[in-house]
Amino acid sequence: MPDQVPALQAEVAACTFCAPHLPLGPRPITQFSASARILIIGQAPGTKVHMSGIPWADDSGDRLREWTGIGADQFYDPAKVALVPMGFCYPGKAAGGDAPPRPECAPRWHARILDLLPADRITLLVGSYAQQYYLPRDAGSTLIARVRSFERFAPAIFPTPHPSWRSVGWMRRNPWFEMELLPRLRAAIAAHLSDG
Ligand code: SF4
Repeated sequence: MPDQVPALQAEVAACTFCAPHLPLGPRPITQFSASARILIIGQAPGTKVHMSGIPWADDSGDRLREWTGIGADQFYDPAKVALVPMGFCYPGKAAGGDAPPRPECAPRWHARILDLLPADRITLLVGSYAQQYYLPRDAGSTLIARVRSFERFAPAIFPTPHPSWRSVGWMRRNPWFEMELLPRLRAAIAAHLSDG
């Protein structure tokens, strides 16, 4: 399995499948290896990440690292953490923010990448797009319902909001997220990182 990783990484990096829909052109941004036991499935790169080519190198990433307790050195170690968003390339703008991740991307790539990862991993479903794709329908029709139901999926899967600036107000309105979910998430991640 590990020997398949470089070929798949190269294939992903060369992807132009939905290029006509990408205003800044294809630039797939992911991180994975066959040993990463923490999988973070986010949304899609913003312009800052598109420009740098570094996943989660923005304010949202800083907040996500704070939520998870993963330091930057481990976060950017593909042997430990896989960063596989719902869309690998910047999708452009829409009313009120960035456009949704390109719908072609996850069906095209996710199964092949996830098949290479260890089975005993923790998966973070960050934001509605990842949750709607991976959680059962009865997990809830709203973000708050899905995140609130985290006990049902922990410790293998944790649904979270997207850690954008909007999450600051959301956390204030939902203090259980910081008091109940984050301690469980940090403990599960710390155990996986120390095992690995
Ligand atoms: S968004 Fe995904 S499917 Fe589209 S070009 Fe980028 S890597 Fe390929």
